[in-house]
Amino acid sequence: MVLSMLHKTKEMLLWTLGLVAFVVFFALPGFSRAAAPVPDVVVTIKPLHGLASALMQGVGSPYLLIRGNMSPHTYALKPSAAARIERADIVFMIGPELETSLVSPLSSLAASAQIVALGQGAREAFGETDNPDPHVWLDPLMAAHMVDAMEGVLVRTDPAHATTYKANADRLQDRLNDLHQRLAQRLAPVSGVPFITFHEAYTYFEKRYHLAGKGSISLSEQQRPGARHIRELQQMITARDIACVFAEPQFSDALVDLLVEGSGARKAVLDPLGIDLAPGPELYFELMDGLADTFHACLSGGSAPPDS
Ligand SMILES: [Zn+2]
Repeated sequence: MVLSMLHKTKEMLLWTLGLVAFVVFFALPGFSRAAAPVPDVVVTIKPLHGLASALMQGVGSPYLLIRGNMSPHTYALKPSAAARIERADIVFMIGPELETSLVSPLSSLAASAQIVALGQGAREAFGETDNPDPHVWLDPLMAAHMVDAMEGVLVRTDPAHATTYKANADRLQDRLNDLHQRLAQRLAPVSGVPFITFHEAYTYFEKRYHLAGKGSISLSEQQRPGARHIRELQQMITARDIACVFAEPQFSDALVDLLVEGSGARKAVLDPLGIDLAPGPELYFELMDGLADTFHACLSGGSAPPDS
């Protein structure tokens, strides 16, 4: 009798606790918001991941796919990353023109995910339809276009967090606009100073800020330039009075040293992917300010001469 009453009391207590938990979980607005599932977002390259991180602040963190100093042009998918892609709800990428090696694994692994290629829309928005340069993030205005597209996808996929995405997007667009004004001001004094870059990545950056890029050492990251191309570049450096030759951290700069040797041109290193920067919501701005500083320093003669 006593035992059965005790049992009953315990049962009632458990039932009441269960009811309280149910009410707290579903009825209180704060709790139901915290319980809304966050989409699993995978982003291919660091600069785009930085923008997506800023958009998702306060909701979640996107996963960065291409890490370390790997190039998106030649990236090979690792098993751990493949497993991560299988879980994704959304994959943000530039497109097959950049992450070429990812097209086939993405179509088989991320069958249930939305694969969102952002590069083409950004190019079309600025009339760059016949330009093969996939490095659209190096133009802050094209980046702003991609932020707009990512915001739309996030809001449609996860309407429960729409208010946060929209507030983050507004702040991010303001910051991108400020960045653009800052870069325009910073680079105005060096517009027209001729230079050569390592690979064909700065078409939109050069156009946006009226910079005088005269060519690239490597036409694509996959192929090493031939002896003839090197000779042509050496002649161009002398003839056009090239002020700077820019190396990139993923590649040996022996070639750049060979080109600037005895030419009077300076050498500096540009990193279009932010390899040494910490991933996250600040990365894009650090990357772009850093690039502008490097361009400005080298083109205005502020950086150290070669062999020093
Ligand atoms: Zn590239």
